Amino acid sequence: MGADGRPRPPSSPPAPGLATRAVHVAREGAALGPRGERPATAALHQTANYVYAGSEAAAGAAAGEAFLYTRHGNPTTDALARAVAELEGAEGGLAFASGMAAVSTALFASAAGGGEILAAEGIYGGTTDLLANVSPLFGVRARSVPAWDLAAVASAIGPDTKVLLVETLSNPLLRVPDLRELGKLARARGLTFIVDSTFTTPCLVLPLALGADLVVHSVSKYLSGHGDVIGGVVVGAAAALEPLRKLRTQLGGTMDPFAAWLALRGLRTLPLRLARQCESAARLAAVLETVPGVARVHHPSLPHHPDHAVARAQLAAAGAMITLQLADGAAARRFYDRVRVFARAASLGEIVSLVTHPASFSHGTLPAAERARLGIDEGLLRLSVGIEDVADLEADLRQALA
Ligand code: PLP
Repeated sequence: MGADGRPRPPSSPPAPGLATRAVHVAREGAALGPRGERPATAALHQTANYVYAGSEAAAGAAAGEAFLYTRHGNPTTDALARAVAELEGAEGGLAFASGMAAVSTALFASAAGGGEILAAEGIYGGTTDLLANVSPLFGVRARSVPAWDLAAVASAIGPDTKVLLVETLSNPLLRVPDLRELGKLARARGLTFIVDSTFTTPCLVLPLALGADLVVHSVSKYLSGHGDVIGGVVVGAAAALEPLRKLRTQLGGTMDPFAAWLALRGLRTLPLRLARQCESAARLAAVLETVPGVARVHHPSLPHHPDHAVARAQLAAAGAMITLQLADGAAARRFYDRVRVFARAASLGEIVSLVTHPASFSHGTLPAAERARLGIDEGLLRLSVGIEDVADLEADLRQALA
């Protein structure tokens, strides 16, 4: 009732939040059961191909009106891509067999015909390896630039530059590029702006709203969350995705339906998991600053982090990765061997806390001189904070450093 006593027109309900959308969006695509009942979870179409009623239907499928063959597309992999696209505020999405299949397809489709990719320093070692050793085979050159230095990025853009590639948090030093400013620069200079948001997910930032053309994820990390899936997703405008769809079919990097189904299940709890992980990481980062033997803690929540202000403005939380600088390789090995709750394993973004030694794992393929230039020395350790009780994680870190 309004102040004048008249009934108010029905107002539209408030837009649902991310946790609500994540729980519901991943159920989408469930086929009706034999009596018209709807399953509570997404349907798994674990099939390579499809059977048609006759030549007319087969011709329709060949013309793209129905599913044909899972390398071209599949209802379950499409449901995952749509779910991630919905959370990212994107028009569409494509699911890939791995994060690297997503990254490589996005890059090569955007740099088709040759040219240059300008990539942020401190990106995932596998992507650095791809740019250094694979893209030249196809006439695509790559250079790297400190993406948190806008003047350096602006002056590095050359006449052949076609693509700007950044990660939302650099690896392993967790630098935070200013996506809005980079988006403006990319637009002004006619570049395709690709943002790998694997470390942040749609829970922490929506890069498309800040000017990205394509957003890439390794689904193997937070999106699936349980360490049982390898996959990737690219989201963006439908027109921007079309060349990638074609290339995905040609290169064969399509996601397997069962992997997509597992990822859909994981996606439903993403906001819940990541909120807990980010909260624990911020607390552990602050604790680690006070522990003897820790030379430096890298986490964007810390006031001395070089991109603290950008992180506060751009990210809903500072992420769940922490990088620790210990005295040297011997100290890092000692810590690595002593942890009990943190699992000694590659990767990140799982419910279980993980520790990795970047100089040996994620950046092991880089030449030693390049690792040194990027500040990845033998004393560096990268922690991926999971969902365990934070008191147990804190106790584990303290005993491993004692
Ligand atoms: N992008 C980032 C930021 C990553 O950390 C990784 C893997 O660690 C990838 C892409 C590659 O993903 P995948 O291992 O699923 O191929």
